[in-house]
Amino acid sequence: MNFELQKQAVERVKYYIDLARSSYNIPRFDCTIEFSYKLGRSAGLCKFKSKTGKITVIFNAVLLPDNKEDFFNATIPHEVAHAVDFYLRGKSDHGRNWQSIMFNLGANPKRTHDMDTRKSAKGGLFLYKCEVCSAEVELGKIRHNRLQKDPTKYSHACSRATRLVPTLNFIKSL
Ligand SMILES: [Zn+2]
Ligand SMILES: [Zn+2]
Repeated sequence: MNFELQKQAVERVKYYIDLARSSYNIPRFDCTIEFSYKLGRSAGLCKFKSKTGKITVIFNAVLLPDNKEDFFNATIPHEVAHAVDFYLRGKSDHGRNWQSIMFNLGANPKRTHDMDTRKSAKGGLFLYKCEVCSAEVELGKIRHNRLQKDPTKYSHACSRATRLVPTLNFIKSL
């Protein structure tokens, strides 16, 4: 379910990137999209490596499911505007350039969000997969630590014999 939502978020990122490309008349540029379970209170962030020019936008996979509207209309354009700012200037902040990109994306240039971060602030969620049925299982930090010590501590409801195996965060590149 979460993966489906992440796929929709990726589409939304592409939508805003295309919008920015047409208003600034810029060519296709590489932008990696990632989802992290460890962003804490941040809804998203945008990273830029000046040596390589690599741009990465990362979204909080813990907050996304409960805040879809905010993500699609605020967080995603916010980070895409940073990505475009990095592409155009090699740097980004919340100043005039970023604000005008936000304006061109039809988004409100707000710096912060007001989502409920209780779930994500507690050290995040860790993503596991059921060995038998491949269902996604999200564990909080305490259960995650227990499972690290004893891999038989928790199993999925589908079978008592199954193990939960850690999975990489869902990562998708454009
Ligand atoms: Zn920002
Ligand atoms: Zn299962």
